[in-house]
Amino acid sequence: MREITELCKRRGIIFQSSEIYGGLRGAWDFGPLGAALKDNVKAAWKRHMIQLRGDVVQLDASVLMHPRVWEASGHIENFTDPLTECRTCNARFRADQVTQGDASTYECPRSDYSLCEFGEPRQFNLLFQTHVGPTQESGSEVWLRPETAQAMFVDFAHVQLTSRQKVPFGIAQVGKSFRNEITPRNFIFRVREFEQMEMEYFVRPGTDEAWHEYWIKHRWDWYTRYGLRAENLRIRPHASDELSHYAKRTVDVEYRFPFAWSELEGIANRTDFDLGAHAETSGKDLTYYDGERDERYLPYVIEPAAGVDRAALAFLIDAYRDEQAPAAKGGTERRVWLQLHHALAPVKVAVLPLSRNEKLVPTAREVADLLRPRFPIEYDDAASIGKRYRRQDEIGTPFCVTVDFETVEDDRAVTVRDRDTMTQERVAIDQLSTYLDERLDLTP
Ligand code: ATP
Repeated sequence: MREITELCKRRGIIFQSSEIYGGLRGAWDFGPLGAALKDNVKAAWKRHMIQLRGDVVQLDASVLMHPRVWEASGHIENFTDPLTECRTCNARFRADQVTQGDASTYECPRSDYSLCEFGEPRQFNLLFQTHVGPTQESGSEVWLRPETAQAMFVDFAHVQLTSRQKVPFGIAQVGKSFRNEITPRNFIFRVREFEQMEMEYFVRPGTDEAWHEYWIKHRWDWYTRYGLRAENLRIRPHASDELSHYAKRTVDVEYRFPFAWSELEGIANRTDFDLGAHAETSGKDLTYYDGERDERYLPYVIEPAAGVDRAALAFLIDAYRDEQAPAAKGGTERRVWLQLHHALAPVKVAVLPLSRNEKLVPTAREVADLLRPRFPIEYDDAASIGKRYRRQDEIGTPFCVTVDFETVEDDRAVTVRDRDTMTQERVAIDQLSTYLDERLDLTP
């Protein structure tokens, strides 16, 4: 984790929020490359959850919702974690994640674990509250959404009618969620502000269990398609005492993070709990009329709920390579590189003139201009070529294109270096786009 965190900081991928003020716990900023990585994760999700299907439509709902949404959904009552406080130093922890005196489960601020004495846990609500309007009186409270899902239930009838989808169908949303986590930790794994990619798939009651299985497999395939190794993934069913108040059955897709196997995504059978609760609280009819079966019912819901930040972290960790470069390829030098799936790599091609020599620059710029409309590229002419390769390796750029003196004086060709094999090939500039098109796997 330390190596990943340092790499992210060094290359401006992810760093502390408000760093010049000492940072804010549980808040991180995604720099230029991190923002591109996140965009790519979201695009990959939308591609397989929406674009390649005909039965899932997108929603982009407001973060602030009517306060009664959270009453109906049960969040005001149930969205809690057990909080325990150490009687001797007053530090607070999530009671279900720590074992008193066990240094591997928490950080004692005084580092003297023998003195810790955890008090009785009490339930702590994770909702962030704020107020709408110019006064802070009661009645003006609203909550920052802790999940994107509720908008899909509240807007269900409207979206179904206007999109003319028939059950089974889904509504998908990618957006920010907020949770006042007791102990944010493990870099971007547990933060207080994060992005979710959630899809509510509405099905006829009785078909829910089969659809649940379908989505578990679909989501597993998505993670492996974009490069996570199967041996680092597992499916873990929730025990009955772990199930959320709305769920009939939930499984987590877990990733072998360096700190422990931990949740990447939850896939829940939410039954008709949410539609039922909103129908009752709002007094609106949220049933669905199934014309083919001449039946009216409240659909059941299967929900694959993933986190953008956690997925990005898992992709980074899984792609991380720290190796000795093979002797034949330039000696015994250490090479740190990210073997990111091409579709996720923030930069697809780097254009590198061998030096800043004035003979090389115009051609190098011409090559950059040729590629820029096709792929996210980076043009870099600073420092030695070895250093620039190292930088591109560390940010996972699949191909580096080098413009040298032969290019301008002789063959109008460039050297293309493959990140994974480190092999180099000479390619004519007028063949370069086709060459890269054939090798870049951007739409798996
Ligand atoms: P955990 O048990 O780790 O607190 P959860 O079961 O509460 O997670 P869900 O409510 O199922 O999480 O949320 C769906 C997904 O949203 C999670 O699988 C995770 O990827 C992401 N997520 C939830 N909470 C956080 C957080 N605090 N920081 C980053 N991502 C989060």
